[in-house]
Amino acid sequence: MVLDRLRSATGRKDPKKIPDGLWVKCPACSKTVFKRLVEERLESCPECGHHFPMASDKRVASLADPGSWEEWNAKLTSSDPLGFIDSKPYPKRIAENTHKTGLKDAVITGGCRINDIPVALGVMDFRFNGGSMGSVVGEKLTRLIERGMAERRSVIIVSTSGGARMQEGAVSLMQMAKTSAALAKLAEAGLPYISVLTNPTMAGVMASYASLGDVIIAEPKALIGFTGARVIRETIKQELPEGFQTSEFCMQHGQVDLIVQRQDLRDELGRILSYLHPRAA
Ligand SMILES: [Zn+2]
Repeated sequence: MVLDRLRSATGRKDPKKIPDGLWVKCPACSKTVFKRLVEERLESCPECGHHFPMASDKRVASLADPGSWEEWNAKLTSSDPLGFIDSKPYPKRIAENTHKTGLKDAVITGGCRINDIPVALGVMDFRFNGGSMGSVVGEKLTRLIERGMAERRSVIIVSTSGGARMQEGAVSLMQMAKTSAALAKLAEAGLPYISVLTNPTMAGVMASYASLGDVIIAEPKALIGFTGARVIRETIKQELPEGFQTSEFCMQHGQVDLIVQRQDLRDELGRILSYLHPRAA
């Protein structure tokens, strides 16, 4: 059907002659789909609904009321506390990720409105070093939560991450405690925090702020967990249930409150905020 539409749009009979970049193969249904249709559906497959990875700026545009977004702490960048070198020096790795993505680190944060409710919004970006959480991600999210508290905003964090950033060692692990402590203060201040889990949300991120939402929403079929299945199997020496690290399994077992299609996420967040965001006295 998509092929027919493209053929009539381009007048070409042989889709193989269409230039590269117009098509994308869906890893879920294996169909080759027209990229523009995927983009129109917020990076989801027009045939089967599979959710492709989404860049943080597109995510913000899909959630924030038009014209309401203001980025905070955009210039924060990582130092190299350990002088870490694996296959390449850490500063070089950061520079390459910045060059590739145009981002300074793996999260963007800022203020916006959703359905006219004031929100402090953080969105992680998997393209930047696997969305790994180091000092910058932890610091930006902590400042986001603190500023959200000062300005009486609800806080929403959209996560995607492979976990803590090993190149920063223990400094990256400290971010788990720091973000969790900030969220505890937010709760004391009576402001809601909604955590949105997208594919994948793993390890140190899932073991801290991603699992601490007053409401936890997941995108369909996202990989959610603390560590890989093989490590768990070898540690507990038991067979693991089928699909145990998916959104659907986590929801059945009480770890996720709602599974929401990406195209419905903005409306769903607006609805939840209308219940939870404190009204002005
Ligand atoms: Zn598909």
